[in-house]
Amino acid sequence: MIQRYNRQARFHGFGEQGQQQLGTQHIMILGAGALGSHCAEMLVRMGVGKLTVVDMDIVEIDNLHRQATYDEYDAQDMLPKVIALQQHLTQINSEVEVEALYQELMNTNIEEIIANVNPNIVMDGMDHFKIRYLINEACHKLQLPWIYGAAVGSKGTVYAIDYQGPCLKCMLQTIPETGESCAINGVLPPAVQQVASMQVSELLRWLSGHGFSRKLITLDCFEFNYRTLNIDQLKDSECPVCAKGNYELLNQRTENKIEGRCGDVFLFRFNSNTFDHVAYLPTRVLKSNPFAKVMTYKDYEMTLFKDGRMNVYGIQQEGEAEALYHTLLKSLK
Ligand SMILES: [Zn+2]
Repeated sequence: MIQRYNRQARFHGFGEQGQQQLGTQHIMILGAGALGSHCAEMLVRMGVGKLTVVDMDIVEIDNLHRQATYDEYDAQDMLPKVIALQQHLTQINSEVEVEALYQELMNTNIEEIIANVNPNIVMDGMDHFKIRYLINEACHKLQLPWIYGAAVGSKGTVYAIDYQGPCLKCMLQTIPETGESCAINGVLPPAVQQVASMQVSELLRWLSGHGFSRKLITLDCFEFNYRTLNIDQLKDSECPVCAKGNYELLNQRTENKIEGRCGDVFLFRFNSNTFDHVAYLPTRVLKSNPFAKVMTYKDYEMTLFKDGRMNVYGIQQEGEAEALYHTLLKSLK
């Protein structure tokens, strides 16, 4: 076994001890998009003990330019990213157990999902900013370290957060809101890969006993600007999350039925049996498998998922989203 990982174990800072430690770790990756898939591939190649990946999306053709391991067959088959990732990663390293959770992370379930998986550490591979505050609360409550990563345009940010140091909420003023609007601003694959690489580097430091770098890293892979900021002075003694243990987002036990996403995309939530009752909808199904159905209605395109979520493309304003949601809901009654 050591032979396979010989080259990385020879690096003195990591060593065979680091390698053995990596082999005992259960790492959880939230999101199987650009950052998550690259982190997952690196960790599986390196010989992590076990990996659990959570994601709710299917592979689409416009993911392939920046996301690791997925291919055109996965997109044609509309495979959930976690399933496609699991298949590819098992071919890369059959010694690593990869667990796939095809689930949406929300304030109503994130704490329970992470607690059930019970990982040693959590890696952030999400692609919108708001959910990271939820991860921040859940990981602090469960006393788990986690590694924040974000990439948008040519820019990226990495920050490893432990239970003691400043949390994401403490850094609110310092962290640029990268990652919020990939669909509008685009993202360069090198930005993704550099952020994912630095996330994995933080993980390797931590598990080989060197601790996190205690630096906030920001980069621009097009302008070639790389900056690190020592974070020790950024701990907020009044922080509602890490100083007071007030988990505001986790305690909001409601879910929105309609949510705006990037650009002209909206997320609708219907009951989970909707997937089996599409015949009642006024939509036309173009393509379907056990995980998702691609449909059209008027000028809209939509993807309905097994759990009742629906991504709708082509909505110009919020009022239009509400009208469409209620039209669809009425047809299901
Ligand atoms: Zn804090």
